[in-house]
Amino acid sequence: MRVAIAGAGLAGLTCAKYLAQAGHKPIVFEARDVLGGKVAAWKDEDGDWYETGLHIFFGAYPNMLQLFQELKIEDRLQWKSHSMIFNQPNEPGTYSRFDFPDLPAPFNGVAAILSNNDMLTWSEKVSFGIGLIPAMLRGQEYVEECDKQSWSEWLRNHNIPERVNKEVFIAMSKALNFINPDEISSTVLLTALNRFLQEKNGSKMAFLDGAPPERLCEPIVEYIRSNGGEVFLNRPLKEIKLDEMNNVKSFIIGDKDENKTEEFFADAYVSAMPVDIFKRLIPSPWKELEIFEKLKGLKGVPVINIHMWFDRKLTDIDHLLFSRSDLLSVYADMSITCKEYEDKDRSMLELVFAPAKDWIGKSDQEIINATMTELEKLFPSHFTGTDQAKLRKFKVVKTPLSVYKAVPGCQELRPSQSTPIKNFFLTGDYTMQRYLASMEGAVLSGKLCASEIEKATQLRSRTS
Ligand SMILES: Cc1cc2nc3c(=O)[nH]c(=O)nc-3n(C[C@H](O)[C@H](O)[C@H](O)COP(=O)(O)OP(=O)(O)OC[C@H]3O[C@@H](n4cnc5c(N)ncnc54)[C@H](O)[C@@H]3O)c2cc1C
Repeated sequence: MRVAIAGAGLAGLTCAKYLAQAGHKPIVFEARDVLGGKVAAWKDEDGDWYETGLHIFFGAYPNMLQLFQELKIEDRLQWKSHSMIFNQPNEPGTYSRFDFPDLPAPFNGVAAILSNNDMLTWSEKVSFGIGLIPAMLRGQEYVEECDKQSWSEWLRNHNIPERVNKEVFIAMSKALNFINPDEISSTVLLTALNRFLQEKNGSKMAFLDGAPPERLCEPIVEYIRSNGGEVFLNRPLKEIKLDEMNNVKSFIIGDKDENKTEEFFADAYVSAMPVDIFKRLIPSPWKELEIFEKLKGLKGVPVINIHMWFDRKLTDIDHLLFSRSDLLSVYADMSITCKEYEDKDRSMLELVFAPAKDWIGKSDQEIINATMTELEKLFPSHFTGTDQAKLRKFKVVKTPLSVYKAVPGCQELRPSQSTPIKNFFLTGDYTMQRYLASMEGAVLSGKLCASEIEKATQLRSRTS
């Protein structure tokens, strides 16, 4: 069966990979000249990589880890010590750590929380622990019910002091969805906490050993091609054409190289585009169907990814850091954490700037100036006094509409991978799967989409 897929992000590529594995012929059309969507990266004039986002892989990503194994590239994940490291705003340049000992879950998580006395008091830990009991006992059903409340509301409803939010969860909320706890759905935080507390290595983090398009997306493309599929760059989906039954008749595909369009026919069609772009391409006769109508409520959140190359080493920490700064979310010294970006003498900081709503329209220089002020608090010894670290160069990558903004009420808006249109399917991190807007979510949605297409094929062959 020929399957046309629009979008070569992780969801589209994974969907194509599993379709090819099942003996179908996926043909992927990507609008841009680069693979990966939100994991896309480019080389600058010196050959240094810069990325759409600083990306962390977690132990709690079973489908992603299985994909790495199937592609025989597990050695490309660089696992770090099982810890979470937070900057201490009241003592600039210092850190507070949650270190997970080698114990089964949830004891390793409980031990990590209990042994950290810098950030939370004992009574705060106890009140938070009691608040989490329903999530641990009732699991996902409870977590889904909590989508009615923001994380700040959830904490207040459980009598957990606001200080807990300030100390730990502003940082986690910004890391998970680039917004603050007053806005984020409590389902997002509870999903992450449940995974981290229920799986021994759930919160263990890894960095890819190089840029995602080459180190992760290329091997998926090689698999697709060697199993009969195809992937084309610079080929945007322009229009979804319908037949007289309002099923898909064809995809109208643009060709940026030759400035023309072609009509492409297949047995099944998939949108693996971000939700904001797909919404613009929904054909009029479909607009009132509930599944597509609900998409109006899903909207990408702005985020900015910053790269700063310095003339010296600023840190020796080989890990992700939670900045706990007002402007920044997480950051890492990629010259240490990522093999391909290694520089023994000089740092390259990659920093996520969030929430970015008030900054996305500002100039790169304004964003860098604001970030430099934050760095004075994160690395005071390098940015005060006479011999200060010098910024050699920078790159700012803005994504005005990134992953869907996970505010309360979004869960029931997220579509399934199959749709009421019998030859049309959806994949993407925003479609319904339990890992929310993440690389794991994208991979799982691609796998679920391939399996829905497979089911539809079997149904068709039984009825014909
Ligand atoms: C700054 C940042 C940091 C992040 N950090 C993490 C992290 O640490 N860990 C984690 O798990 N996740 C992280 N994420 C989220 C993760 O990157 C996404 O959830 C995931 O990559 C989404 O994949 P996707 O395939 O669903 O969508 P996308 O990656 O958006 O792919 C959609 C593709 O469709 C293409 N497209 C658009 N229009 C068309 C068209 N008309 N025709 C054809 N193709 C089209 C796009 O170019 C793109 O390639 C981060 C995201 C950002 C932005």
